[in-house]
Parts: sequence; structure tokens; C-alpha cells
Amino acid sequence: GLKKKEVNVLCLGLDNSGKSTIINQLKPSNAQTQDIVPTIGFIFLSQCLICQVKADIGTSGNIITSECTGSTDQSSLFSIRLMCDPILFFANKMDVRDALSSVKVSQLLCLENIKDKPWHICASDALKGEGLQEGVDWLQGMIR
Ligand code: GDP
Repeated sequence: GLKKKEVNVLCLGLDNSGKSTIINQLKPSNAQTQDIVPTIGFIFLSQCLICQVKADIGTSGNIITSECTGSTDQSSLFSIRLMCDPILFFANKMDVRDALSSVKVSQLLCLENIKDKPWHICASDALKGEGLQEGVDWLQGMIR
């Protein structure tokens, strides 16, 4: 039969890039919040926000439950190294005028140099929820 599997997902990105909005969109609608408060206080590593999301991923790829905690200690840094495999990139805010395409973003980040783990990039609009499911579907396929 189909079983639930608990996975740890780390969500990293620049301040204000839309991490909380993306995570919120992936929650079931009855667990979503209307007001996303910027996640200040979890900042380290030159503006990278470390947000550890513990999530139960359902059979359809949706997040059933999630819990977000931030940390600045060494052990979480270490766990990032252990856990960032595979890597899903969201080129978020694709709705913004002059937003770079996902191809352009992957070139600028030299993603083709990542050879030791699977990675994928999706353009997304977290406000409308567009592009998120594609990414989650890919991630789900990777961790099945
Ligand atoms: P975080 O700091 O990375 O968690 O970013 P937030 O999720 O708090 O989002 C920062 C701001 O960007 C908020 O005002 C969001 O409404 C906005 N935002 C998030 N995703 C998008 C998007 O895809 N398009 C646009 N236009 N704005 C977005």
C-alpha cells in the first residue's frame, strides 16, 4: 500500500525571497496563514535564512503537517551538509517585471557545476502558488 514517509526539508534563501510564502502555500488550506510575518532572527551566513521544515509528505506530494524552526548553531550547519541532497531551487517571484528566467538563474548560480546530487529548478510565483507543485512533485520523486 501507499505509506506516508517523514522527511526533513531545509528551506534556504535570501531574506524576503519568499520562503515563508512558499512553505505556507504547500500547507493544507486549513493550516495556511493569511499574514506571513517575515522570519527575522534565523539569519546567519550572510543573509541566508535557515528554516528547518519537518514535513510529512503525503502520497500526492502535498505537505500534510509541517513545523518550522530556525537555528544558528553549528549542529544545524552540519545537518545542512548531510541533508541537502537532493536540491530543489525555486526561481521565485517570476511574476515580477524583468524577473530572470529559471534558465538564466541556473546559469548565474552555475547549477550545472552540481554533479554530486540531483537538482532541479522551477520558476515560481508563491503568491499565486504557481510552479510550486512541479517542484514538490520532482522532490517527491527523488525521495520516494
Ligand atoms: P522570506 O523572508 O523568504 O520568508 O520571504 P516571505 O515569504 O516573507 O516573502 C517576502 C515578501 O515577498 C512578501 O511580501 C511576500 O508577499 C512577497 N512574495 C513572496 N513570493 C512572491 C512571489 O512569487 N511574487 C511576488 N510578487 N511577491 C512574492
